[in-house]
Amino acid sequence: MKQFRVLLALLVVVAFSGFVFAGSAGDASLQKLMDGNKRYVEGKLGSKDLGDNKRKELAKGQKPFAIVITCSDSRVPPELLFDQGLGDIFVVRVAGNIVDPIALGSIEYGAEHLNSPLLFILGHSKCGAVKATLEAKGEPEGNIGAIVKKITPAAKAAKKKGGTEDQVFETAIQENVKNVYKDVMSKSKIIPELVHEGKLKIVAGEYMLSTGKVEMIELPKAAPAAKKAH
Ligand SMILES: [Zn+2]
Repeated sequence: MKQFRVLLALLVVVAFSGFVFAGSAGDASLQKLMDGNKRYVEGKLGSKDLGDNKRKELAKGQKPFAIVITCSDSRVPPELLFDQGLGDIFVVRVAGNIVDPIALGSIEYGAEHLNSPLLFILGHSKCGAVKATLEAKGEPEGNIGAIVKKITPAAKAAKKKGGTEDQVFETAIQENVKNVYKDVMSKSKIIPELVHEGKLKIVAGEYMLSTGKVEMIELPKAAPAAKKAH
């Protein structure tokens, strides 16, 4: 009986430390990104190894420490604004930083197969895709219409909240990021599982075009759970 209790206590300690370790891997990744953004803002970029040896080493395999989903906007390159190098971050870029099954599949690949412990959902100030959605009239057409359709709930929520034109624009950008988070948590089965297992941390932010700073966006606390598979 005594041995059983010792074993039980040991199991609890091992399980707990595993959980803490997984959580801290995501935290450490976030710290790396934010330290990089600070260097970028201050114009003190770190040196990057873009040499032959580094390429050869990475050709054997990648182990990116974070996944970033962000906008295709040419002014928002995550590797530069987070001051990271080759093989560091697994990037998904699409206008309006929205997710569809293909983008979600890419995120799942980064999280499940490459074991990245962090997903950063990054919107940005003055996003053209969000602006176009706010100004859209009637039914959106074509493939750009598919993007507008996806951002429409954020635009509606922002208009409802009101304020100046700039405030509505800013609210829509943030609401869109929160909706992307909800999509990630409700339309993927794997991602919420990894989050609940403590293997993946999800955070969000907005990149400010004029200052270069990434400002954190607080995500809704209770994320909708993914539908259970039958
Ligand atoms: Zn954009």
